[in-house]
Amino acid sequence: MTLNLRMLGTGGAFANHFDNNNALFEENGFTLLVDCGITAPRALHEMGVDLGKIDAILISHLHTDHVGGLEELTFRMKFQLGKRPRLIVPEELEAPIWEHTLRGGLEYPEAGVTKLTDYYEVTVLKNRVPAELAPGFTIEALPTRHIPGKPSYSLVIQDKLFYSADMVFDRALLEEMVYGRSCRYLLHECQFTPPGIVHTTLEELLTLPQEMQKAIYLMHYEDDIESYIGHTGTMRFLRQRVPYEFD
Ligand SMILES: [Zn+2]
Ligand SMILES: [Zn+2]
Repeated sequence: MTLNLRMLGTGGAFANHFDNNNALFEENGFTLLVDCGITAPRALHEMGVDLGKIDAILISHLHTDHVGGLEELTFRMKFQLGKRPRLIVPEELEAPIWEHTLRGGLEYPEAGVTKLTDYYEVTVLKNRVPAELAPGFTIEALPTRHIPGKPSYSLVIQDKLFYSADMVFDRALLEEMVYGRSCRYLLHECQFTPPGIVHTTLEELLTLPQEMQKAIYLMHYEDDIESYIGHTGTMRFLRQRVPYEFD
């Protein structure tokens, strides 16, 4: 079966020309939104996405370009659409996503909403344990290093696609994905200029062998993409709003 993808945006945290790096995956009638940054509600509107068709939302980590739009989406799901969608959270984010991110705006005792499960059917992903979100749709969360002390999770979807969260370069993990897990597609964040203190730089990705580079789609990049076209080895850029199909 084919995994369909449209990126809401492909921009890094401070990009102005691109929206936040959030993804809409669809396969076999199941639609998953991966991350919901500040720009996500407007991006979904511009893409003509019916919010009622989103079955589940997964959050990779708690930076605002990945979760800043979730309060609005949550409100709209409950009070405009009367929906209680699924929220997929890696285990270390389950408590902080409510306590640190959503509670300030969403706790509303008079309306009987005081906790995350009042808005969502919550599914907690255990580290590196695949979960079947819907018949034939599997996902696995891998803890990857981003900011010390702040959990961040990359994903393996359908055992064929690796989707990086924000992460520092991890060659061993990428080798595991390609040679150990047979992932044919690696969607990877990319910071154009060094140093890669909390992100992975283009320079680091260019040290990978060509055969691995061929599987890589670059995302989460800065505004000056034009300067780097033709300088990414055999890696290509993922473009926002463009439909992709991964077999
Ligand atoms: Zn980010
Ligand atoms: Zn981040």
